[in-house]
Amino acid sequence: MDIRDLIEPFGLTTDSLQQGTLEVRTPIDGTPVARLAEQGPTQIDAAVARARAAFEVWRDVPAPRRGELVRLLGEELRTHKDALGRLVSVEAGKILAEGQGEVQEMIDICDFAVGLSRQLHGLVIASERPGHRMMETWHPLGVVGVISAFNFPVAVWSWNAALALVCGNSVVWKPSEKTPLTALACQALFERALVRFGDAPQGLSQVVIGGRDAGMRLVDDRRVALVSATGSTRMGREVGPRVAARFGRSLLELGGNNAIIVTPSADLDLATRAILFGAVGTAGQRCTTTRRLIVHHEVREALVARLKKAYASIRIGSPLEADTLLGPLIDRAAFDAMQAALGQARAEGGSVSGGARTLQDRYPEGFYVTPAIVEMPEQSPCVHHETFAPILYVLGYDTLEQAIALQNAVPQGLSSAIFTNDLREAEQFLAASGSDCGIANVNIGTSGAEIGGAFGGEKETGGGRESGSDAWKAYMRRATNTINYSRALPLAQGIRFGDD
Ligand code: NAD
Repeated sequence: MDIRDLIEPFGLTTDSLQQGTLEVRTPIDGTPVARLAEQGPTQIDAAVARARAAFEVWRDVPAPRRGELVRLLGEELRTHKDALGRLVSVEAGKILAEGQGEVQEMIDICDFAVGLSRQLHGLVIASERPGHRMMETWHPLGVVGVISAFNFPVAVWSWNAALALVCGNSVVWKPSEKTPLTALACQALFERALVRFGDAPQGLSQVVIGGRDAGMRLVDDRRVALVSATGSTRMGREVGPRVAARFGRSLLELGGNNAIIVTPSADLDLATRAILFGAVGTAGQRCTTTRRLIVHHEVREALVARLKKAYASIRIGSPLEADTLLGPLIDRAAFDAMQAALGQARAEGGSVSGGARTLQDRYPEGFYVTPAIVEMPEQSPCVHHETFAPILYVLGYDTLEQAIALQNAVPQGLSSAIFTNDLREAEQFLAASGSDCGIANVNIGTSGAEIGGAFGGEKETGGGRESGSDAWKAYMRRATNTINYSRALPLAQGIRFGDD
């Protein structure tokens, strides 16, 4: 595959991308497209030092002015939406519509952050002391380290960077070693925005290329005030305690195991479409992918029949072809993990349809699969595990209490949904004793969240929240200020100390 045309819009040249040790392959057909230079410990330390120096300037720039830089970044993204979306498709294997959708999400978060840059406000709190005012102020935090996963190679950076920058922080980004090219493209667009902005400090947002070790270097660096890490629960288990050990802050966005409950009153057409997009979209490689279908016995047969029919009509192929809905898995390891999961499901009594490799004649080094539906007798160990592939486990239920218990019984807690036309069932699902996930939807599937809401999940998903609502608070530190404008010095709690 000739990468030249794809990188040219970002001012990148093939010469600069063929010198290093990190081989980048496109999952479309497995061909190598670049060999990137990786940054070692000394270079990463220097990047953090530059970021710290940039922070010390940037934190004093008024927030609405900081917003202007993010507005310009949004403009660059609008101009290059097609080119960046296509590069995402080539590097991560997403179909074109999803690659462009990911860039649209970047544009949306930039717009959100620009508005936010005039709304970073704290509270004024009633003081118990006369002649006193108490308030909260929010201040920039420092260097934000962003570690991202392959499956949202550009959006995750923008969710973090747009907010971090308007909040007055600097950013060092370690993208996935599977998708570093798109990171270099984003950096090029950011630098164009910087030039148009004019007076931003050097090193305000940087990219470091490398694998796990490069990520660890950021994790262990005391100058990195917040580590925002997106990836597997395995990664979060390593990162969380290490950041905590140095009393740094972490924001963890880890694996999901998302379920849709379908009740007898559900609109089955709506449910079928939502399950199809949720389970098959992005080849099952979204953190919010629908992995479990918990369906009432009364409608189970009808719904599974509809799903099998819909699955049979899905076009599998190159993500660059217009009518493709299901592109490749990221690599051979992902395919092997999928086959291992299906083997385990069979051993646990599951009945598997689909899940085989396809198109290997055309793409010997591309890993395309038919999506799998696996009917399980119970929620056995294989169902508890997030396998990053298009596998949908189907489980039956009799009462809504059972369905909610099944939904909550897995270690992850990211996204969940119920399809019902019964108000009581919907409210029961959303109540404190309902879904235990960070995202709980009614008559909408588990994947495809809007940026306006806080995004993230509970339990082994890590507890972090990014994107909309008040997620910005994770990127700032809070100070409580009490101001005495009286001539006395009353103590809190009415304490008298050394006076009459
Ligand atoms: P991964 O865990 O293999 O890698 C993610 C990133 O972490 C990469 O940049 C990697 O280099 C880095 N990394 C790995 N070990 C590290 C360590 N010990 N210290 C520092 N950095 C380390 O994940 P992946 O295969 O790229 O992505 C898929 C996973 O990401 C899935 O589990 C998916 O659910 C999850 N994900 C979660 C969200 C979310 O918002 N919750 C979003 C996207 C993806």
